[in-house]
Amino acid sequence: MTDAVLTVRGLRKHFTVKRGFPRTVTVTVKAVDDVSFEVRPGEAFGLVGESGCGKSTTGRALLRLIEPDDGEILYRGENVRAAEGAALRALRRKLQIVFQDPFSSLNPRRKVGQALAEPIEVHGLARSRAEVDGRVAALLAEVGLPAAAADRYPHEFSGGQRQRIGIARALSLEPELIVADEPVSALDVSIQAQVLELLRGLQARRGLAFVFIAHDLGVVRYFCQRLAVMYLGRIVEVGTVDELFAEPLHPYTRMLRDASPIPDPTMRGKLPRIEGETPSAANPPSGCHFHPRCPHAKPVCREIYPKTTIVGGRQVACHLHGGT
Ligand code: SF4
Repeated sequence: MTDAVLTVRGLRKHFTVKRGFPRTVTVTVKAVDDVSFEVRPGEAFGLVGESGCGKSTTGRALLRLIEPDDGEILYRGENVRAAEGAALRALRRKLQIVFQDPFSSLNPRRKVGQALAEPIEVHGLARSRAEVDGRVAALLAEVGLPAAAADRYPHEFSGGQRQRIGIARALSLEPELIVADEPVSALDVSIQAQVLELLRGLQARRGLAFVFIAHDLGVVRYFCQRLAVMYLGRIVEVGTVDELFAEPLHPYTRMLRDASPIPDPTMRGKLPRIEGETPSAANPPSGCHFHPRCPHAKPVCREIYPKTTIVGGRQVACHLHGGT
């Protein structure tokens, strides 16, 4: 699609780690391995999978908080990986991130008002102190916090309020896309629902697009329009949330769906443990990485990683669906 706000092609990020005692064995972890997807304007695109599947590394690589090894990242056709200096700063205005733990991204010694004002000042988005203060007040109101919050320190807020501050900070630069990395997973269930409602409202009002990273299928089903399922560094299926939940094509998507059938975020459980252990990304199984856990595995599955094919407009990598 040419109107995508973000296009990712062949993204790779491999890490070298030392193993053993003493640490003499060097292994390569293919955290993100040939990942491709698009995000359309104003849509919430989910990246979901078990812990260690590469979804958070992918999110950070999109913003170059981690430098990718290979692949293409285009924001509105502009090459994110090639951007430097002023061009990179301009791109970072448009692409923002919200972390699971907003506290880690807030300076505990700076008042919330200062934390929100800083990016506005650095990027020259206001002409006067009064305008900066006005923007800060408007941001706080938009995320449901009182104006008086500007004069308080991060530790004075609850987890849900801190996440609202993290969201306000991301909004301060008027982005077009936010990478939300497990933004509600550290919160109580009732607070999760409130923060998701806030994000939904922002999506509708501001036309914001999201790359929404989560291990919780209930949250993803509630918030996202389309979804990529990741397994050991690779995307195994992409489709609309309705398609993937109604008729998953990939056996792994089906397992996730069957184990988490409840869409209401106040009722769902966490992504369940499904049959078998997740293999290590440092030593993935041959062929299709999912074959040791797959009830449909065929001999070819142990030998050859399936190609990604398009089935009814959906992207899937499985030998059952023409991936040979
Ligand atoms: Fe299962 Fe084979 Fe499809 Fe992998 S390629 S998910 S092992 S059927």
